[in-house]
Amino acid sequence: MKRIKISAILADAGLIGKDVCVKGWVRTRRGNKYVQFVALNDGSTVKNLQIVFDMNKWNEDELKAITTGASIGVTGKLVESQGKGQTCEVQAETLEVYGTADPAEYPLQKKGHSLEFLREKAHLRPRTNTFGAILRVRSALAYAIHKFFQEKGFVYLHTPLITASDCEGAGAMFQVTTLPLSKLPKTENGEVDYSKDFFGKPTALTVSGQLEGELGATALGEIYTFGPTFRAENSNTPRHLSEFWMIEPEMAFYDITDNMDLAEEFVKYCIKYALDHCRDDIEFLSEHFDPELINRLEFVLHNDFVRLTYTEGVKILEESGKKFEFPVHWGTDLQSEHERYLVEQHFKKPVILTDYPKEIKAFYMKQNEDGKTVRAMDVLFPNIGEIIGGSEREADFDKLNARIQELNIPMKDMWWYLDTRRFGTVPHSGFGLGFERLVLFVTGMTNIRDVIPFPRTPNNAEF
Ligand code: ATP
Ligand code: MN
Repeated sequence: MKRIKISAILADAGLIGKDVCVKGWVRTRRGNKYVQFVALNDGSTVKNLQIVFDMNKWNEDELKAITTGASIGVTGKLVESQGKGQTCEVQAETLEVYGTADPAEYPLQKKGHSLEFLREKAHLRPRTNTFGAILRVRSALAYAIHKFFQEKGFVYLHTPLITASDCEGAGAMFQVTTLPLSKLPKTENGEVDYSKDFFGKPTALTVSGQLEGELGATALGEIYTFGPTFRAENSNTPRHLSEFWMIEPEMAFYDITDNMDLAEEFVKYCIKYALDHCRDDIEFLSEHFDPELINRLEFVLHNDFVRLTYTEGVKILEESGKKFEFPVHWGTDLQSEHERYLVEQHFKKPVILTDYPKEIKAFYMKQNEDGKTVRAMDVLFPNIGEIIGGSEREADFDKLNARIQELNIPMKDMWWYLDTRRFGTVPHSGFGLGFERLVLFVTGMTNIRDVIPFPRTPNNAEF
């Protein structure tokens, strides 16, 4: 008999009265000498399917392998359930045990393990209801992202993960090398001889696909990237990973307003997609971790994001009278506490801040007439702080080049980037959304280590 997924069973009342075959992992077994109940989960939904063993037909010995964590296949008739908590159940007729899980050793015995404990068991935590829910939401969001951009005719551009440019400036980089670290080849003046390295020059894992994204946008019009990025920052926060996924759309002929409009439409689309397609999982997470979750998601969907300049934002923060851990004045980079104050206390809505001081933003952002600010935009969310960072790009070769000189950015390997401004330059804009920050927001989790299957953070590359 062909296996049917539990999600399909729960979605199709027409299966009641029919024989079904289900396969999955045992969550619990309980009962007495007349009847035994097994809660089975197969990963297709947060809901377990109840399997009923009539002990007139089975003996305890046949069921002894059915312990938490064991994998089994069962066939039997699907019937309406008399018990509370489920609509239907399977009356077991045949049982196949694929793999046992010794209760003395299987670490996920009782319910309600802490998230910290589960981080140490990241290889098994997808077997919990919580991580099943998070990982399904994550997958649905990834699909929604492609769907959104594909439906708009954006081209999915694959930018390289290994890069030779060291001027992207978005964060510290992980070096990529095949040189023997214990016996580095040296040049005559004692420096590492990278001509002997794999690529013949220093290379690193990318911190952003944006610069190559701009090459795509100035040819294909509208592109997006969606892939891993790497930052070797030693920032041990609940919002930073060393390896995370980023979505970076880049669009020719978009000014900063078009860019903000797209960013707002995009995040709302993703949130709505998750609410429409992952209702059970989001309800589960809401019930167990964050009773305000669904309200917060709906609230973001149904409100316009507030748009104001960095200068106006700083003024509000200065006049708030609030004591921040990091003092704030014009020119400082905003910390998460400042961003969250604006969003959660002041406006009580998502905020898009624009026109930041040029000193705290990247060299490629379009320079404003005031000579002080650039056309940057950060989207700030409740509970998260910055979820998107973007800008209109400097399209003028001379201005861009002057900024590069001013900042002493090593551009020797970047001639190709400047060519976008030398040949057929166009106004263009783009942004980067940290995928895990979106997953954090949609799942209501509070630590970024809990929304990626195998987190990479300082001192942690387990599994
Ligand atoms: P932050 O100030 O929070 O460190 P950033 O200014 O370094 O962010 P950008 O370089 O603009 O961020 O990157 C674009 C987006 O990528 C951010 O808005 C954020 O959503 C996400 N992001 C940045 N760094 C990380 C990280 N270490 N882990 C996870 N997501 C990140
Ligand atoms: Mn950062």
